[in-house]
Amino acid sequence: MNRNIPISEPILGEREREYLLRALESGWISSKGDFITQFESGFAQYCGRRYGLATSNGTTALHLAMLALDIGPGDEVIVPNLTFAATANAALHAGATPVLADVDVDSWCLSENEIRAKISTRTRAIVVVHLYGNMCPMNPILELANDHNLHVIEDAAEAHGAKYKGRPSGSMGAISCFSFYGNKIITTGEGGMCMTDDEDLRTKMQILRDHGMSKQRRYWHDVVGYNYRMTNIQAAIGCAQLERIDQFLRRRRQIGRYYREELDGVNSLLFQEVPANVESSFWLFGLRSSRKKKIVNALERIGVETRDVFMPLSDMPPYSTPEAFPNSKAISDQGFCLPTTPNLSDEDLAFITQGIRATTA
Ligand SMILES: *Cc1c(COP(=O)(O)O)cnc(C)c1O
Repeated sequence: MNRNIPISEPILGEREREYLLRALESGWISSKGDFITQFESGFAQYCGRRYGLATSNGTTALHLAMLALDIGPGDEVIVPNLTFAATANAALHAGATPVLADVDVDSWCLSENEIRAKISTRTRAIVVVHLYGNMCPMNPILELANDHNLHVIEDAAEAHGAKYKGRPSGSMGAISCFSFYGNKIITTGEGGMCMTDDEDLRTKMQILRDHGMSKQRRYWHDVVGYNYRMTNIQAAIGCAQLERIDQFLRRRRQIGRYYREELDGVNSLLFQEVPANVESSFWLFGLRSSRKKKIVNALERIGVETRDVFMPLSDMPPYSTPEAFPNSKAISDQGFCLPTTPNLSDEDLAFITQGIRATTA
């Protein structure tokens, strides 16, 4: 019997409905309202940060981070070659040059060694991406950044609630950025958030998010800003999701552990390895095989959706460089992701791992 198991789906329930209706009935449907402030302070607190600024999406959050750190033309920003394009696009939107670095072959994330090789006199910042919920080695990266006077921006769009040495993702960069797109760990439909502990950076981002309008004098603009605000309607959904984030993460981690144990030693499989000092959010479960096509096709036939790993940015026209990135290439060629939606049943998981075993027997 085939199933119909999607790679991911949002989990929306009674509480989301209740808060959504409350936002509608209050009349506060744009970007002012109680849910906005509650969502910003609630999620900032969850991540161990002083300030949270809700944005229209994760990409605008990354763009605001670049602008607040005065990153612009002539500046280089180191980004991983294996990530969603938005990471590099934010640097380009700010007029800066993204410089691609290869990822670690085991964790699929940036490491201090790959970053060090890319630092030049023009480098201003490093954007670390906690890919699929796994986390970069933050201590060595922060130390390297400190030695070279570079900003660290955390792209934690896939890593809500992940931990490095017990510290939450998003709590360590000068600014960190999250996404609440429909397939992320928690969602607001579309949405994002910037976090910082620095009051000046927070004020700068608030002004840029709101058309560059002065906070002292309405409709007076000292700088050219943007409308990157989140609505109270989106934040209402976010508040309801935040109440359940630990429940979602508990199940995602069970799922990650299950796949890793059940598939260990299965012919030809390699895994995106989670270091001992990291608790992944398991946004997706990443693995590799030289027989990827065969496995993915077999899963598709029995109704299990998989997802290819991102393609290297270096292969695409806007970011292309002739350099070789052997790790990104191998991971992208052979890598795919399994479903990690918290509402998968134990039977679904057994069905998926049996499907994989059957193709590799
Ligand atoms: C989802 C995602 C983003 C962008 O978020 P949007 O809300 O879709 O703009 C940025 N970086 C990474 C790594 C992502 O996965």
